[in-house]
Amino acid sequence: MAGEHTQETTELLSTLIRNACVNDGTPDSGNETRNSDLLRTFLEGPGVEIESYTPRPGRDSMIARIEGTDPDAPTLCFMGHTDVVPVSPDGWTQDPFGGLVLDAEGPDGRPFKEVWGRGAIDMLNLTSSMAVAFKQLARSNWKPKGTLLYFGVGDEEAGGVWGAKWMVDHNWDAFLGHNGRLDYVLTEMGGWNHGGGRRVGICIGEKGIAWRRLRVKGTPGHGSMPYGTDNAVVKAAEVVSRLARYQPAAKLDELWAARITTSSMPDDLKAALLDPARIESALGELKPSSAKHLHACTHTTISPNVVHGGVKTNVIPDVVEIDVDIRTLPGVTGEDVDGYLREALGELADQVEVSRIFNDEASASSTRTPLWEILTERTRVAYPEADLLPELIVGATDSRFFRGKGTVAYGTGLFAPSVSFEQFASRFHGHDERIDTESLGLCTDYWLGIAEDLLG
Ligand SMILES: [Zn+2]
Repeated sequence: MAGEHTQETTELLSTLIRNACVNDGTPDSGNETRNSDLLRTFLEGPGVEIESYTPRPGRDSMIARIEGTDPDAPTLCFMGHTDVVPVSPDGWTQDPFGGLVLDAEGPDGRPFKEVWGRGAIDMLNLTSSMAVAFKQLARSNWKPKGTLLYFGVGDEEAGGVWGAKWMVDHNWDAFLGHNGRLDYVLTEMGGWNHGGGRRVGICIGEKGIAWRRLRVKGTPGHGSMPYGTDNAVVKAAEVVSRLARYQPAAKLDELWAARITTSSMPDDLKAALLDPARIESALGELKPSSAKHLHACTHTTISPNVVHGGVKTNVIPDVVEIDVDIRTLPGVTGEDVDGYLREALGELADQVEVSRIFNDEASASSTRTPLWEILTERTRVAYPEADLLPELIVGATDSRFFRGKGTVAYGTGLFAPSVSFEQFASRFHGHDERIDTESLGLCTDYWLGIAEDLLG
């Protein structure tokens, strides 16, 4: 029966929200052990093996497993992060950690219920619905051919250092199924409908992160006699403006073409956005909010975001450090990034030392998989006409660590047709984050169906 598990998912989601595993980026925040223990207790039962992992006190992750019987059948992992980002309580009209279930009116005038709180969209909605689907399979005494894993993971919101990255680096074997592999991971962020339900976006890839620190050197001197001096702040200002003016050329790949051709934009705009010679001027004509997103999807971007330099008003500074947030498209390597920086800086390049703060290349998974076919079928339960639209996201999720191991990872979900992509987008890390309970029921049935179809 459709929506049979809505109530159970709603209750679990409220409890996960109330546990308030707020990750502010400091190593001792998060306290995901609260949600990890909750999920552990929730999933315990016959036929389920569960293990907890403690990379650092308070920051547990957990894996539950229903072992397969056929060494040739695939292994699937549902991955839900258990942490949430901080809130600015003044912007909220309800308690962000109350997990309240309130009546609302849908865009189509129908009454429905919503669960309110930090994490309702990102991504405790999926973490809870995946857990309920897993539990339902376990309690029905399901004996699949392939192995099903449930991974409740901490520290997604601060880069996975104490979460997915740590687990993949230190406990990779814990993810291997009866076939000795981890074939598939399903997680955030995708499943939103575009164009009235004709297309449902699934995230198959994400941009890379290539943070760099630029150290600009000068010669110290007295601030009272600046004439002819080699002032590091003055030079750094020029470095920053060169970085701001420089832009690697647009890369218009198959994903971009699929996204633009299936969008509801006017044809002349589509043609311009698909033409390398015209895309820049076309972006300039769009609303800034869409332009910056579409720009980020087609360009490796360079943003100088932190500057430190100088010690005293009367001292000419001899060193300035500039931290630059660079986000790379698939196929762009760390060496390419260093090449872009040299090109941007021109003859100043020799006076700037570049060091790597972080270098994770972009990642993408193929859509030519049996799981992709299953996602298409299971999406059509709610959107009978829909085709899946493979998408690249400009941010980062835990999927990248698994793609790095050769696992196919997709970001997906299934949400009520009455809730628009724009509504979801505005609630991500925003005020008054909430989700309707119909979507929670759809998601739970979606995970259940996928596991049954894939693992048998
Ligand atoms: Zn998330």
